[in-house]
Amino acid sequence: AWGKVRETLAKRIGKNNFTSWIEPLRWAGLRDGVARFEVPTTFFGDWVSRNYSDHILGLLNAEGHAAGRTEFFVPLNTPAAAPTPEKPARPATAKATRARSDEDLPGATLDARFTFDSFVVGKPNELAHAAARRVAEGGPVTFNPLFLYGGVGLGKTHLMHAIAHELQSRQPQLRVLYLSAEQFMYRFVQALRDKQIMDFKELFRSVDVLMVDDVQFIAGKDSTQEEFFHTFNALIDQNKQIVISADRAPGEIKDLEDRIKSRLQSGLVVDLHPTDYELRLGILQQKAEFYRQQYKGLAISTGVLEFLAHRITTNVRVLEGALTRLFAFASLVGREITLELAQDCLADILRASDRKLTIEEIQRKVAEHYNIRLSDMIGPKRLRNIARPRQVAMYFAKQLTSRSLPEIGRRFGGRDHTTIMHGVRKIEELMTTDSQLSDDLQLLRRQLQS
Ligand code: ADP
Ligand code: MG
Repeated sequence: AWGKVRETLAKRIGKNNFTSWIEPLRWAGLRDGVARFEVPTTFFGDWVSRNYSDHILGLLNAEGHAAGRTEFFVPLNTPAAAPTPEKPARPATAKATRARSDEDLPGATLDARFTFDSFVVGKPNELAHAAARRVAEGGPVTFNPLFLYGGVGLGKTHLMHAIAHELQSRQPQLRVLYLSAEQFMYRFVQALRDKQIMDFKELFRSVDVLMVDDVQFIAGKDSTQEEFFHTFNALIDQNKQIVISADRAPGEIKDLEDRIKSRLQSGLVVDLHPTDYELRLGILQQKAEFYRQQYKGLAISTGVLEFLAHRITTNVRVLEGALTRLFAFASLVGREITLELAQDCLADILRASDRKLTIEEIQRKVAEHYNIRLSDMIGPKRLRNIARPRQVAMYFAKQLTSRSLPEIGRRFGGRDHTTIMHGVRKIEELMTTDSQLSDDLQLLRRQLQS
């Protein structure tokens, strides 16, 4: 993926820029819609993020990769004085978004785009947003810790970065440390290995605000949990603000010590609900406005945005990825963004976010229709008035889901795949002659696909 994008970039941004900024990037892969790169220094990462992120994302998406965000990080074992490629004068536009004592805080870079301004508020996230705002005002510590949770791509990281940006701009002297739980663990392990655990402790206890993203990552990692717990307590005791995110509520994180769970619950716990249609449309409109400027007037109609908001309901990152790809693609091929173009260019995303029908749902609906028990679907009875509906359910399981015959067999009480195949064939055969059955199938299909 990166190889191609790199080539295109080389052609587009000029040799000097390419050599200074793109060549030093080490591709670290694409995960959960996040394109990750190793960079020599955090300053370097900030600069590339601000100036080339959209370019890179646009091209990745045009290549068919769903990338919604970039992340630049300094790998472990890079000596502090890693050579920076001929560093041009710090550009005037690059405003410092990180803590004053940048160099000694082992945090992650903040995405310059993740601000409160760019966060669209709707019913599903209004509480989380309000709580984040309050913490970002930096007044007397009220909610401590603030615990944000919710599914993938619902805006947890965005809100955390927004808090950090806001605190930093209101109080530049504040030592704000944002990092993922994964990074926390790596730093910790590194400190253990280098016998610098005292430095590690001191450092983490000296910050004013600690923000740990995706804390579920430390579940099951005992010594990291232990260290996290002590850091946490030390900061709370000093009345320092802590903000935590996770993909689920504290009580639901498995393999997390009870004392940590209860600590995490001791402040304010708020969740980000799955998006609704209005929120998705709002986010799309905002993004589209941004792209209209970026792509010099390339327009997208409300109809297309509505279509996307309806059809892509999984997570915001996928939604944004779709829009990014659409703009990049339209500008590459020099066409207008129409509904047709959207359907073409986003076929894979649209397919993947189609509602997934489960075999269980099929069994329930069919059982209901024929007025038999759900348990008879998987049970052994061979009576015609039970065996036939069961075969109908097998038929739909094969036709409307992507499950294999053995998988379907397992869900029908451990039947053999040949039994399933036989059932499916039987129905296919009968439907041509049995008009009652054919009517039943039509009705059921409509219900199942609605
Ligand atoms: P999470 O950390 O919950 O998995 P992110 O914060 O990374 O999700 O959000 C995924 C993407 O969706 C980001 O690009 C983010 O900017 C965007 N996003 C999510 N919610 C909103 C929102 N309410 N307004 C604007 N953008 C949003
Ligand atoms: Mg996140």
